[in-house]
Amino acid sequence: MDMDDLYYRHVLLAADLSEQSDYVARKARHLAQTFQANLSVIHVLDNIPMPDTAYGTMVPLDQDSSYEMLETAKSRLKQLCDEFGVEASRRWMVWGVPGEEIVRIAEQERSDLIIVGSHGRHGLGLLLGSTANSVLHHAKCDVMAIRLPDEIARDQPDQPHSQPGWGTV
Ligand code: AMP
Repeated sequence: MDMDDLYYRHVLLAADLSEQSDYVARKARHLAQTFQANLSVIHVLDNIPMPDTAYGTMVPLDQDSSYEMLETAKSRLKQLCDEFGVEASRRWMVWGVPGEEIVRIAEQERSDLIIVGSHGRHGLGLLLGSTANSVLHHAKCDVMAIRLPDEIARDQPDQPHSQPGWGTV
């Protein structure tokens, strides 16, 4: 094995923007700093109905609340990235299925380590949430699942988040 293969160069943090994201982000930042790696963050919008997009089933939701949810997600992502020093060009907000989009952006951006929380909004009570599980199965790079302490997982309300389309925030 090449010595270079022992180092991570580009860490991608998958953030569902729940309260738990901070806990996972702290670990991701520390790891990135330890390896002097770049840190990117991705949030996938999976709960806002998007007209005129290839993905998704339309759910009736008035424009105002869609817009509000989108703005909330944008501002939470910005807050998280500002706090953890993630450059603007390394912030991703994507519309789609979280597991698929996380893997897709990791490949596109040549990430060599994806960091997810062991469970989040969908996986309360599970050892590994469905998104973490999907990423673990499909990623071509290493995946680290950060085990969430029970007291952090328990405190977690179900959070709305997300926006349509994709780009940097
Ligand atoms: P879950 O499958 O909801 O239990 O979530 C497990 C982990 O997958 C979370 O801690 C996040 O790291 C990641 N994840 C889940 N949903 C999203 C999302 N919409 N965007 C980005 N990452 C996510």
